[in-house]
Amino acid sequence: MSAESKKAHNFIQSLIEDAIAKGEHTGKVVTRFPPEPNGYLHIGHAKSICLNFGIAETFNGECNLRFDDTNPEKENQEYIDAIKQDVEWLGYEWAGEVCYASDYFDQLYAFAEELIQNDKAYVCALNAEQMAEYRGSLKEPGKNSPYRDRPVEESLQLFRDMRDGKFQNGELVLRAKIDMASPNINLRDPILYRIRYADHHQTGSKWCIYPMYDFTHPISDALEGITHSLCTLEFEDHRPLYDWVLDNITIPCHPRQIEFARLNLNYTITSKRKLKRLVDENVVDGWNDPRMPTISGMRRRGYTPESIRNFCDMIGVNKAGGTVDVGMLEHAIREDLNNRAPRAMCVMRPLKVTLTNYPADQTETLTLPVHPQNPDMGEREVTWSQTLFIDREDFEVEPPRKWKRLAPDQAVRLRGGYVMTCKEVVRDGSGEIVELKCEYDPNTLGVNPEGYKPNGVIHWVSASDSVETDINLYDRLFNHESPDSDKEGDFLDHLNPESLVVLKGARVEKSLAQPRTDLPYQFEREGYFFCDQELTEKSGKPVFNRTVTLRDSWGKGGK
Ligand code: ATP
Ligand code: MG
Repeated sequence: MSAESKKAHNFIQSLIEDAIAKGEHTGKVVTRFPPEPNGYLHIGHAKSICLNFGIAETFNGECNLRFDDTNPEKENQEYIDAIKQDVEWLGYEWAGEVCYASDYFDQLYAFAEELIQNDKAYVCALNAEQMAEYRGSLKEPGKNSPYRDRPVEESLQLFRDMRDGKFQNGELVLRAKIDMASPNINLRDPILYRIRYADHHQTGSKWCIYPMYDFTHPISDALEGITHSLCTLEFEDHRPLYDWVLDNITIPCHPRQIEFARLNLNYTITSKRKLKRLVDENVVDGWNDPRMPTISGMRRRGYTPESIRNFCDMIGVNKAGGTVDVGMLEHAIREDLNNRAPRAMCVMRPLKVTLTNYPADQTETLTLPVHPQNPDMGEREVTWSQTLFIDREDFEVEPPRKWKRLAPDQAVRLRGGYVMTCKEVVRDGSGEIVELKCEYDPNTLGVNPEGYKPNGVIHWVSASDSVETDINLYDRLFNHESPDSDKEGDFLDHLNPESLVVLKGARVEKSLAQPRTDLPYQFEREGYFFCDQELTEKSGKPVFNRTVTLRDSWGKGGK
């Protein structure tokens, strides 16, 4: 396993340590990550992945990847492939082969028959509406179904007939016989199996009945020898049912279910169902749109596995819940990239500069470090020539006080190059500034000029060999802190109309003609940018996605 071992202690780890110390737990620790393949994984899943694989790693145990695939209509192979890729990319290795709950359909069926035979389950013909009525409410107990006391033999025959396709969708269900008066509604004779005429991505047309999650999950865990079944808090009320299922069938293993709080992030949503709407309604460019909080979207945007794992470490694991500031996620990626992203210069909105005292037929090669604090990363070459580009925003005709960039008759240093002074502003017919004529000072390469002080340092590229590029400036997808908290409106009402701004015709230094695809660059003074391989291939020139800006306000009271 390549994941870092630097992990914060969490309450689940402490529980397991205690159990081991008291001799209550012996043997290997086995966990699992159990996604339903009905969408792509998002940052919330990353928390669960880091927790499950992290616990296994801490205790030298194992973690399975299991697809919880009991809803064939909503699931498909594309999602399975994407989920596997995302878990691997995060740096985790599951134990053995990938598992599927559907691998256990035969065994699940046999356990269902065992329950029927022991008078612990029955076939019920109430329809959905009646079922709801009989279930009662939080205040009132439920009522027994009229089918509850049907003879074991009759239920057994009906269940087999359900399996053999003798009934229609929804006509009958198999229910556990527990307690219709239980204060826990999950124990009021929950459904174990329902009829669904749907082909399954793993089992094809073999089955027309499918087991429910609450029946499938504990049995799948037990069959795999899972010791600790970690799940999110909404399953706390299901724990008695999890335990009931395992206590009432013949199975040698009884995993311990432990709940933790889901991750919620502000300015985004973490629900596959809602993310799917963004995809289906073409609000975004697919599941891996760089604005999506999906693992694949974050990967395309330039997030690294390390930054996501560190973020999960920072947020920790607890039962309290709450919402995490997306600024913390941005902080995690900045920290990682600041240390190791190669530096480069990109002029986003090019303004031509002509050095009037530099010969037109001359160029020279300047050498800059790839990373200023990390000489091991080597050097890169840029070209100095008569025509350069700087960013329009680095020039002001009438600069404000304390202006740190270029202005008429003022000097700036070009990063890694010489100091130059602006002598003339050239405008076109409409008055727009189209060129600056400047003089460079040949005695200023790596040394301060004599007798005057430049305003600051700006970035630049040479017109002679810089490369044209398009830049995607991404911002938050929603302009509302909790887009899906609005009970009346729709979360799509809160889309940020400026979540993507495309800058055409930007220019990057020549070393980026073939950009790296393993790590984002830091474009000096602008932020971190990652080559978009899909769009680069499509457009024939490098296209970069802004991962995150440089300004980090997290933890400093800002948003
Ligand atoms: P969604 O609501 O997005 O569909 P889910 O819980 O239905 O999420 P699953 O595929 O069932 O998605 O999730 C797989 C595992 O990931 C489960 O153990 C689940 O508890 C966990 N998980 C899902 N969302 C989060 C989250 N936001 N924070 C932490 N863990 C999560
Ligand atoms: Mg689910």
